[in-house]
Amino acid sequence: GGDFSQKIDYVFKVVLIGDSAVGKSQLLARFSRNQFSLDSKATIGVEFQTKTLVIDNKTVKAQIWDTAGQERYRAVTSAYYRGAVGAMLVYDMTKRQSFDNMARWLEELRGHADKNIIVMLIGNKCDLGNLRAVPTEDAQEFAQRESLFFMETSALESTNVETAFLTILTEIYGIIR
Ligand code: GDP
Ligand code: MG
Repeated sequence: GGDFSQKIDYVFKVVLIGDSAVGKSQLLARFSRNQFSLDSKATIGVEFQTKTLVIDNKTVKAQIWDTAGQERYRAVTSAYYRGAVGAMLVYDMTKRQSFDNMARWLEELRGHADKNIIVMLIGNKCDLGNLRAVPTEDAQEFAQRESLFFMETSALESTNVETAFLTILTEIYGIIR
């Protein structure tokens, strides 16, 4: 909204990580601006987007960071993780490799981020269910083993995008307040 007099109670930094082309930038575009683009180049260079919402009568500004093309191994710098209170580990449910790489991304995250960071595993592109390469149960099992929240989303169809971000932000609020 355009209300600049609004008082912000909390700012939560959340980082998006995962392989290139899994849909990180489009999840962010959907959440922050309710937009979606089939052209992945449209968002290159964007550092972060913010969205202000109300949780438990408090005004929370979510500052969501996007890797913007730094997805190569170890190319994401420690500055990216600094101060993050939440992370979304995103894979493409039609690309098995992007799910298999989640363990590596999680290891990198845990090497850089605060140990109390809230982490959510996201299986994106659920609109392409006929091309599914990662069974829900595999992801659930991994999430349970690693103590992660888990959700399947579609940035294209808007499925669970708002719910995923609201869930992680509410969980962050729950440990920070
Ligand atoms: P990033 O590299 O992880 O930031 O991925 P992008 O957000 O740039 O998305 C990569 C490609 O996947 C683009 O062509 C997007 O339009 C497409 N994409 C992203 N999310 C979805 C989704 O939920 N469903 C489908 N079908 N395509 C998606
Ligand atoms: Mg991107």
